Amino acid sequence: MIMVEIALDHAKCKGKECGICAYICPTNVFAIKDSEVLVNSPQYCKLCYECLETCPTAALKIKKTEGNCV
Ligand code: SF4
Ligand code: SF4
Repeated sequence: MIMVEIALDHAKCKGKECGICAYICPTNVFAIKDSEVLVNSPQYCKLCYECLETCPTAALKIKKTEGNCV
């Protein structure tokens, strides 16, 4: 089972005034709350990397880990 961790660096992120990742993500992983962009549903990420490629401040990191089914 593949697990995905998405790290959003709030020091780099421009928040709601950007919001590109939230707009572009096909599976609605991100949410906009007040002026911040949050990683709301990383379990829906399908590793298309659109958000990484379009983020203007390189605020996102995606880590793929192999989880063990128990
Ligand atoms: S695309 Fe980057 S800078 Fe823009 S809201 Fe998303 S993480 Fe923040
Ligand atoms: S890699 Fe694709 S599916 Fe995953 S969070 Fe980014 S835009 Fe969404």
